[in-house]
Amino acid sequence: MLPQNLVNKFVWECHLLLGHVGANKVSETVRRIVFWPCMQKDVTKVVTSCLACQKVKHPPEYLRGELKLILPTRPLQLLSVDLYGPLPKSKGGVHYILVAMDILTKNTKLYAIFNAATPTLVVKMKSFIEEVGRPEAVLSDNCTQFTSNVLQQGMLKLRVVPTTTSVRYPQSNPVERCMHTLGTTLRTYCNNSQQKWRDFLPLVEVVMNHTVHVSTSLTPFEALTNYRSMLLDSRSIPQLPSMRDNGVSREEMQKEVQELVRARLYSAAEEHKSKFKPSKLSRFELGSLVLLKTNPISQLWANVTRKLFNLYEGPYEVCEVHKENCYGLRDCVTKGYVGRYNVASLRRYCKHVVEAVI
Ligand SMILES: [Zn+2]
Repeated sequence: MLPQNLVNKFVWECHLLLGHVGANKVSETVRRIVFWPCMQKDVTKVVTSCLACQKVKHPPEYLRGELKLILPTRPLQLLSVDLYGPLPKSKGGVHYILVAMDILTKNTKLYAIFNAATPTLVVKMKSFIEEVGRPEAVLSDNCTQFTSNVLQQGMLKLRVVPTTTSVRYPQSNPVERCMHTLGTTLRTYCNNSQQKWRDFLPLVEVVMNHTVHVSTSLTPFEALTNYRSMLLDSRSIPQLPSMRDNGVSREEMQKEVQELVRARLYSAAEEHKSKFKPSKLSRFELGSLVLLKTNPISQLWANVTRKLFNLYEGPYEVCEVHKENCYGLRDCVTKGYVGRYNVASLRRYCKHVVEAVI
């Protein structure tokens, strides 16, 4: 009977000799030479602790946090913003689209902008406030334009609170779905003449705001204003209907509509949640060691295929636990802060069991 530490070392050597194959292959191969009780368990323990394998192989299942429903109670309580582009230069030298979507009503404004620089974004936020109203808070992803100090200060000057989603997990920003629609619509109209995208932007905005949203059965325009969308042909401007003459004030009607929207969004989210059963909700504690999904885009400068990059880097130590499945990480050695990440970008790090081997 081999002592446990020798078992570990033996299995580890086999894993290396066999070119980092998985636990099943290692134990099948080892079984031909030698056998001991709990062999499969020992092999699995050693093989899953291989750092090289943890970095390059996909985890058995991606960690997901509980779906977090962001559901404001009134329009313009939370505005979701994002940048689309860079796109080919279009009329007037514009390269990007700033997308601003009200999370409750889904009402969306699209702005063609020259660049993604902070002053441009602040100017457009001012236009939004003039045209639609002042949002209480703005939710954006973590790209540098939105996290810069200058932008944060600019927003606060406009009396808008800036908030961000966790790093490298833009899907938690509700505007993502809207970006997808924007992409498909623009591709549909401009794939033969890409520089003309700006001409189609007003049309895209009208279509987005005056077509029925699946979850609410209302158009975003209806949800926001309580006026009926009359989109008879794709270019028509919506007409204002005559007010319902039933003694109910405009404000009351509007409130009624917004409550309806909220209820419908809520039940749509509940339905989605019941269909999606996360197999494993993950929780990390302070001090947990985790691996972090690498960001291939930042590595694209090198003329190499991203398929060959490590999928994960680390290990890092969890030093903050935020709500909404978000964790702060720091370097295990330098203790330097690495960033704040969504659980979907993390996997649990399995410490190497063979102490002597480096
Ligand atoms: Zn390995």
